[in-house]
Parts: sequence; C-alpha cells; structure tokens
Amino acid sequence: MLQKAIELLQKYFGYTTFRRGQDEAIASVLDGKSTVCVMPTGGGKSIVYQIPALVMPGTTLVISPLISLMKDQVDTLSQLGIPAAYINSSLTAREAASRMNDARNGKYKLLYIAPERLSSWEFIQDLQEMDIPLIAVDEAHCISQWGHDFRPSYLQISGLVDRLPRKPIVLALTATATPKVREDICASLKIDPNHTVITGFERSNLSFSVVKGQDRQVFLKDFIKKNEKEAGIIYAATRKTVDQLYEWLHKEGFHAARYHAGMNDEDRTREQDRFLQDEATVMVATSAFGMGIDKSNIRYVLHFQLPKNMESYYQEAGRAGRDGLNSECVLLYSSQDVQVQRFLIDQSADRERIAPELEKLQQMVGYCHTEECLQSYILHYFGERETEPCGRCGNCTDSRETEDVTKDAQMVLSCIIRMGQKYGKAMTANVLTGSRNKKVTELRLDKLPTYGLMKNRSSKQVNDLIEFLISQELIGVEHGTYPTIYVPEKGKGVLLGKTKVFRKEAVRVKQVSNDDPLF
Ligand code: ADP
Ligand code: ZN
Repeated sequence: MLQKAIELLQKYFGYTTFRRGQDEAIASVLDGKSTVCVMPTGGGKSIVYQIPALVMPGTTLVISPLISLMKDQVDTLSQLGIPAAYINSSLTAREAASRMNDARNGKYKLLYIAPERLSSWEFIQDLQEMDIPLIAVDEAHCISQWGHDFRPSYLQISGLVDRLPRKPIVLALTATATPKVREDICASLKIDPNHTVITGFERSNLSFSVVKGQDRQVFLKDFIKKNEKEAGIIYAATRKTVDQLYEWLHKEGFHAARYHAGMNDEDRTREQDRFLQDEATVMVATSAFGMGIDKSNIRYVLHFQLPKNMESYYQEAGRAGRDGLNSECVLLYSSQDVQVQRFLIDQSADRERIAPELEKLQQMVGYCHTEECLQSYILHYFGERETEPCGRCGNCTDSRETEDVTKDAQMVLSCIIRMGQKYGKAMTANVLTGSRNKKVTELRLDKLPTYGLMKNRSSKQVNDLIEFLISQELIGVEHGTYPTIYVPEKGKGVLLGKTKVFRKEAVRVKQVSNDDPLF
C-alpha cells in the first residue's frame, strides 16, 4: 500500500519522499485505522489525507473551518489534476446544490466542507448517498474546549460518522495538541489514542534557555549589545512594558522598533517595515506582533516576561532561525510574572476558560523550573514521546552538580498531605516557613507538625522548590475555584523513600537574592 502511496506522491505532487510522520500516518489510515495526526504548521498535514483520498475508492470528505484555505486547497488540487470541490457559505444556494449533485455522482476525490453544514438534515442526507471512505477533520483541536479555538459545530462530526451507511475511517489533523486536547479529539471522534502520530515539532537550530534571578534590564542590555548586529524580537506581556522598554532602548542608543495593539495602523505598519528592512534590529512587541511575519534571519527571540502558555511561547520563540541558522530563544523568568498572567486570565470574560488557562500557565511555569532538556520539555508538552536531550539548551549545557534534595522534597510533600491537600502553593510555603500570616493561624495550620519545618529558608526559595517539584510531577495542581496542590502517586514514592529527588538549582538558590522589581 505504501508503495502505491509513494508513487502517487511522486506522480501528483512531485516529491520523492515522505516527511517524518507522513508515511506513518498514511500507513495507519490505509491500514483501516482511525488516526490522529499532529504536526506543526507547515509540517505537511494536507498530504496525509490527500494521498489516502487518491488511494481509496470514493470521495474523501474534508472538514475545515477556514473558508479561504479551502479554496486554496481546491485550486491547488485542481491544478494537479485531482478532482476536488468545496461547499461553504461563500457559495450561493444554487452553486452549492449543483456541486452537491456532482458530489453524489462521485465526481470528486475530495470534498471540502465547513463544519456548520452538518447541522442541516438535507445535507446529511446528501452525504448518506455518497461513498465516503474517509473523513479528514482538519484543525481538529476545534473539537475541544481545551483548544484555543473551540467550535461547537465540530461536535456534530461524530453524529455524521454514525449516520453514514458505510462506516468511514476518521483522520483528525491538528498542529496544536496538548494531551487534554488529544484526549478530547479521541473521545469525540472515537479514535483509539494508540493510533496517534505526532512528529516534527523539534527545531534543531534553536537553543532554548531560561534566565532566573538576574536583573532583567542589565541582562537585556548585555544581551542586545552582544547581538547588536543581529535581528531579534523582545516580547513583553503588556503594552506599557513594551513602551517603556522601547524608550529605554532608544536612550541606550539601540535601533529599536515597537509594535502592539494599542498603536494605530499606520504606526504599526511603519514600525514593522523598519524591522523587516533591517533599519531597526530589535523589535519590542507584545504577542500581537508576528502573525504572518516572514523574516527568516531573526537570530534571537527574548521573552522579557513569562508568556501565558507553551503554545504561545513556542510559536513566538519559533520565529527565530527560520533560515535554519543557529538562533537563541531566551526567557527571563521572575515569579511575579505569574501573578500578571494569572490576573489577565482572571479578567477574561469566559469563565469556562479560566481553569484550562490556569493549567496551561502552570505548565509554562513548569518549563521555567524543569531541569530536563528544554527542547524535550517542549516536545513532551506537544506529545512527542521519544526525544533525546538536545545538547544545546540551557539545561543540557548546565554543568552544575546535582544535589540530593529528597529530604527537602519529603518535607514539602508531607506538609501538603498534613494540610489535607486542599490549599495552594503560597499557603503551603507559609506553613513550611513558619509564617505568622493571619490566615495560617486562623486555620490553625500553625499547629501542624510540619509548621516551620523550613523556617531557615525564604518563602521564595520554598516556592521555587514547590514549582520544581510540580515540574517533576511530584506535586499535582488542581484548578478549582482557586488552584490547590496535592501529592500524586509519583510523589508518594518519594515520601516512601522509593524515589530520590535531585536538583541543580539547590546549589545556587542559597546565593540568589530576591527577584528584581519590574521598572
Ligand atoms: P500544514 O497543513 O501541516 O500546515 P501543508 O500541508 O500546507 O502543511 O504543507 C506545507 C508545505 O510542505 C507545502 O508547501 C507542501 O507542499 C510541502 N510538503 C508537504 N509534504 C512534503 C513532502 N513529503 N516533501 C516535500 N514537501 C512537502
Ligand atoms: Zn536540551
């Protein structure tokens, strides 16, 4: 079967080989398995359903939410000599009916439709008259509340699958699939999670690092000086910080441009052009900058503040090194930024989004505290399983000795259990450091045997340790009305003395002062 697939790839698309993951996903589909395929944007997902569509008799149905993309795809396929059509709201009723008529007569190998169509009974009946061996669900994360673009109409796809006379194979495709999103996709479309193919998220020319406990402005100035001739982006969380940084950089004599949603169109275009044409080497911006920007020689992306989640971070950091040359992605971490992001999430109108967003923020914070390879942490976040340490990132090149911190970890874990696993990180740190905080005494937490166990440490040190243990999955976080922490199975192993905990940061933590104030 795969031989046939390669022949078609060469014949129609002119490519000689499949990219990593494409062949695996295609083989899975041709083997009759409903499959989830996760690849980054530009990874080549279209071919994963287009080739099986050519191999299988009948018409493959492609469900896509992006009207403009549908047209592009169909145009491309038509040029390649593959009969395809789309039906969406851009057509008149008459045009739609005529295409549907052609579709029922088996004229197309691929038929693209918008998910909203599925709420029409007539449309479902038309589909029932067709021979549909495969349904490709593009942008499949739209099925999940946990994705960034939930579309209720996607929930109707499973109903369609059940109503077709011959049960089709379902192929779900997406670029953003965190474990929760993938679970939802599999559950909704009844796909066995074992039939998931995830590849291609690695960027082997990028080196990631997290910088903690340093004066950010001093670091930034040195960093830009060192890279003065190179193009780079500095991302900040708020417009205000962008403006302040921009003015400060100007005063320091750097060629900076700025970009955020609070500027008018004219200013934004001008600033963007200055950066694209290398007039300004540094772009200071909020996350509003970068969509659709095609500048290949960006040598660094520096996050001055914590982004809201790993998806945003990897997307923004990934704008470095598009030309394939070595580039740096640096994140300056300060624990107070977590409060800023939490505040922004709390402000959001959609109450349902709060818990998922807080959980994503926690994973972002985990990135700043993990001591494993940062590239691997990212790949694991996106669901790639077998990864090798990259050898380039800040953690891979960190030559500090590790220290056995099992005893410290046990203190924290037993305190969480004594507190009934119903409080947050800050309260736990308060109890461990023996704080006289009113809440602590009111709740009589000062009577616990673990109270004051770590009174020789600062609350920041204990907080950092808790974050580290969370990043190691030795502590779990439950995002209810407010986040609480608990001890999962893996953590219990540490309490029982079965697992030891090692940490590098332990060595440095003793010398580091508190976080720098932000301007
Ligand atoms: P995605 O939908 O994952 O964002 P596309 O399907 O649009 O990505 O593919 C991105 C680009 O990669 C397209 O230009 C496509 O032609 C090209 N491409 C896909 N598969 C291959 C391959 N096996 N060999 C070479 N180029 C490929
Ligand atoms: Zn690494």
